[in-house]
Amino acid sequence: MSMLPNSQEARDVAYQLHPYTNARTHQQAGPLVIERGEGPYVFDASGKRYFEAMAGLWSVGLGFNEKRLVEAAYKQMQALPFYHTFSAKSHGPSIDLAEKLVALAPVPMSKVFFTNSGSEANDTVLKLIAYRSNALGQPQRKKVISRLRAYHGVTIASASLTGLPNNHRSFDLPLPNILHTGSPHFYKDGAPGESEEAFATRRAEELDALIQKEGPDTIAAFFGEPVMGAGGVVVPPATYWDKIQKVLKKYDILLVADEVICGFGRTGKMFGCETYGIEPDAMVVSKQITSSYFPLSAIILNDRMFEPIADESNKIGVLGHGFTAGGHPVGSAIALENLKIIEERGLVAHAAELGAYMQGRLRELTSHPLVGEVRGVGMIAALELVLDKGRKTAASTPGAVGGIASRMLQERGVISRNMLDAIAICPPLITTKAQIDELVTAISGVLNDMKSEVAKLTPA
Ligand code: PMP
Repeated sequence: MSMLPNSQEARDVAYQLHPYTNARTHQQAGPLVIERGEGPYVFDASGKRYFEAMAGLWSVGLGFNEKRLVEAAYKQMQALPFYHTFSAKSHGPSIDLAEKLVALAPVPMSKVFFTNSGSEANDTVLKLIAYRSNALGQPQRKKVISRLRAYHGVTIASASLTGLPNNHRSFDLPLPNILHTGSPHFYKDGAPGESEEAFATRRAEELDALIQKEGPDTIAAFFGEPVMGAGGVVVPPATYWDKIQKVLKKYDILLVADEVICGFGRTGKMFGCETYGIEPDAMVVSKQITSSYFPLSAIILNDRMFEPIADESNKIGVLGHGFTAGGHPVGSAIALENLKIIEERGLVAHAAELGAYMQGRLRELTSHPLVGEVRGVGMIAALELVLDKGRKTAASTPGAVGGIASRMLQERGVISRNMLDAIAICPPLITTKAQIDELVTAISGVLNDMKSEVAKLTPA
């Protein structure tokens, strides 16, 4: 890309260090600068239109110009632009939202703690779990188990929960006391000839063995996304969650469901926990709670967590934790309006119906020589690109094939994201059937167009 002096692109390169970007190649390639949005589309500075097949970062459920969210923000800004919830202060929007989240939860929940990002929320859960163990007189019960390929955030503790190499490498992570068990990625990790159910049994047995090895009374909690997102859209194999939950119950280990992507309709039910029969002690929500119009996250917890925490705060005199902007009145007002719109427009049912259509249409691409697997549920999916279907392998450089696909999709006006060689698809909930058809046509075109470029790569 040639960048004109003093252009937005040149100034971006001059002044921004970007997350999840190669800082060196960015100096040459520059950014894609997005200027405005309309429904599931965004437009760059030259006016080119892109279908946002990732809903931003798995998050803009209502699309990019929902006026009611803007109005809710403006109204709240005028009434009370900021107040906090420290030291027994409160305000209407946070009270209404806490009540709403407890009511929406698929299992009996008791309280909501507000934070600003998924990472902060998961860090907070870790701290609350330690606090609880101390309250219960079990100071040795501090280890938590997460999974390889998991994504729970990027702060020091939540990055430790994350089970992806790029979030640990050179950051001196993970922290001790945060353990990882095998991922539920049947396509990648299933043994030859193994059935999905046998794979799920093996994963549950491995979890049991890890707990035994560490000492069951040292393990406080297990963290999991109902469907893994950033790890490559990993849909759990049949019976997986039932078997995992049996192991956790046996040892009285808390279950934390990270619903940051799955929450509010993505899997075709209000929560991923409903889709998979998960009964968590705490749920972490963010992203689609405000359609990402405002940074807001929350932890919804049950009495099993709340009661000991309340006792400990009483013993110490205060719960010494909280964020200035946690439960921000503007974010809470936007979240309430967003959830109201999701309900009014029946967007969870729409996600189930359109999701089934999208999954079917995407699966038509399975016969393409570059597609190893199409997986997904509701309105979240991934295409695993391969060079060798039998060996399930792509190029010798992981991510090379996926990188070509996402670049060519962008050229065609589709923004997707490649997680190595898996192309993630997670469009806004308001997407229509015709837009899904357009998306599938674009993907199919790219799969054909990329053949010659891919042929130059060295297979793994
Ligand atoms: N958990 C999950 C499941 C996520 O997908 C993400 C973000 N992609 C996070 C946590 C972290 O959220 P944030 O980027 O807001 O810190």
